Amino acid sequence: MMKWEDSLEKIKGVGPKRREALEKAGIKSVGDLLSYYPRRYIDRNVFGSSAQVYEDQEISIKATILDRGRLNRIRGNLSIFSVPLLWEEKKIAAVFFNQPYLKGSFQENQDYYFYGKVKKNHGDIKITNPQFVSANHPGNFFELTPVYRKIQGLPGSVIPKTLSQLFTAELEVPDAMPAEIRSSEKLLDMKSALKAIHFPKKPEDVVRGIDRLKFNEALKINMGIMAGAREKRYSDIDINLFAGLEPFIGSLPYDLTASQRSVIGDMIADLKSGQVMNRLVQGDVGSGKTVIAVIAACLMAQNGYQTAYMAPTEILAMQHGRNFADLLKNAGITVEVVTGSLKAKEKREILERVAKGAVSVIIGTHALIQQSVEYYNLGLVITDEQHRFGVKQRSQLALKGRKPHTMVMSATPIPRTLALILYGDLSVSYIDELPKGRKPIKTYCYNEASLYKILGFVEEQMSKGRQTFVICPFIEASDELLEVRDTESVYLELLQKIDPKYRMACLHGRLKSETKEAIIQAFNQGQIDCLVATSIIEVGIDVPNVSTMIILSAERFGLSQLHQLRGRVGRGNHQSFCFLVTNSKSEDTLARMKVIVNNRDGRKIADEDFKLRGPGDYFGFKQHGLPKLGLLDPTQELVLIKRTKEIAEVIFESTSQEMMTFQHDVLKSFYIEIADISFN
Ligand code: ADP
Ligand code: MG
Repeated sequence: MMKWEDSLEKIKGVGPKRREALEKAGIKSVGDLLSYYPRRYIDRNVFGSSAQVYEDQEISIKATILDRGRLNRIRGNLSIFSVPLLWEEKKIAAVFFNQPYLKGSFQENQDYYFYGKVKKNHGDIKITNPQFVSANHPGNFFELTPVYRKIQGLPGSVIPKTLSQLFTAELEVPDAMPAEIRSSEKLLDMKSALKAIHFPKKPEDVVRGIDRLKFNEALKINMGIMAGAREKRYSDIDINLFAGLEPFIGSLPYDLTASQRSVIGDMIADLKSGQVMNRLVQGDVGSGKTVIAVIAACLMAQNGYQTAYMAPTEILAMQHGRNFADLLKNAGITVEVVTGSLKAKEKREILERVAKGAVSVIIGTHALIQQSVEYYNLGLVITDEQHRFGVKQRSQLALKGRKPHTMVMSATPIPRTLALILYGDLSVSYIDELPKGRKPIKTYCYNEASLYKILGFVEEQMSKGRQTFVICPFIEASDELLEVRDTESVYLELLQKIDPKYRMACLHGRLKSETKEAIIQAFNQGQIDCLVATSIIEVGIDVPNVSTMIILSAERFGLSQLHQLRGRVGRGNHQSFCFLVTNSKSEDTLARMKVIVNNRDGRKIADEDFKLRGPGDYFGFKQHGLPKLGLLDPTQELVLIKRTKEIAEVIFESTSQEMMTFQHDVLKSFYIEIADISFN
């Protein structure tokens, strides 16, 4: 009897070497192996038509062998075996690379089925490295064949063979889902679902199997999030002093926009409701989200509560530390920044003051919650640029028994489906205008050959006192990707090309925290004219005097990331410019660049990104701190997500033993999975 948690040792034919390869790929138990789903299936029932084939199409054809073919040995063990075929009255060729042993496999004038990839060259059609079978004895050629992601050091046949062994032996697959749910939702039991996925007879089997597994995933996520949400509902944080708010807002260096005003209104309503606030503030880059956080922190402090503000990077934490302190100092509110780079003694002193309640606003990275920061009376947790944070961090706070209000700031538009999962009953406020006086950033896309012209332009800007960002995808040169630009060599190159009277520096994640901070500080104060950096500056850096950004190897960045990067310029009243530089000639890339050149609205760009890349890529689920998703694409499955949410509610309300056991099982695995996720 094979059990889910049994180790691979129990399976015959999996020796130490193969076990090691499997373990490296994260497959340590029978259950892991069963959960190693096929990446795709080959369906050789899909026949092409010779009148209409396109490059790289994978198709089956039925063709007649014209002659037994010719083997060309090129050198060493390189060879090409080419067999002329007649396919629907068209002459084409089957071409096999490095498979000389196939010579003599074909009979003239016989019919064969071929399945492979089409290559076209000036009207010549080739089907490359096809699988084939005699048309008289097709055998199992037309059965669906699962294709698994390749595992290093493991022959491709091992996974299917081992799985087949498991299913022919006695195999026990646990399935705690109560029968009433299974039957009302018409779901397969787990063992049948896994069998259907690994050994489908027909495409519908795969669909049925996947339906069950997706259902599990959607239900688990909904239950995990709901469990957190159910714990914290009623707030005992008493906010009732609102009189000091207007004077504080009046003391700010600018008037709030109408959108910012309305977010403040939403927040006040939340705080008056007696419920725990759980609000997402969504606003495009530069729309002024930080000041909302400052105002919220001020309100908390005036009511005697502390605010923790979590930034995604240390650089940003330090920058916010300065901004907050600036804006809050007249109100007499104390601000401290806690980061990993503090000296032990400094840090201890700050934390002591936090614990005593002598600090009102504590700013830091996620270390803030991972470490044992003792708060005096935490009233509000604000998370900046939420796409870097996730459920895990929030549930960590909840697990510590705290019930602070929460506010999440994000520039990344989140599709409704995903928001539903991530936030359950979270409410959203939008800032949908930019502060007055902003000039739209002029954006251009150029080839590298034009770099010298762009640099000339940049020097002109710098001569007027403006500053410049130059962004590269990498820190150092990569052996594999020679054409992709890196900060180190670009920095050296620009030192040569830019007039030495302009001061330059290079910033990336591998520098020591103090060095990073010193560079940012110097840049902030205008002591550096041109900063060469990685996308480390993507999130939140706010230096209004920067008027130009050059993004090198721009094709390496996603659309939303480019938009975020570009958002680092145009934050003051100067006309700003962004140059996307790429040597790529790919139509896709140029189309993506065009989206950035032509659009300024983050929501529109996100939509386009979605269309071009698909949602899976757009949202790194890992970054959200969600359990790794196998099959569920939560941005696509609104119906399933809503339905499983309803069922999750039923499960939470039920008092039947079976339902309660199931609830316990699911939540346990949810917490184990999210505990496994590391931060980037
Ligand atoms: P983001 O929404 O990207 O976090 P920030 O909060 O960093 O944007 O704000 C961008 C810039 O706009 C900052 O320099 C900030 O001081 C300024 N700002 C914010 N609100 C206003 C406003 N109402 N009027 C003028 N400038 C503002
Ligand atoms: Mg920001």
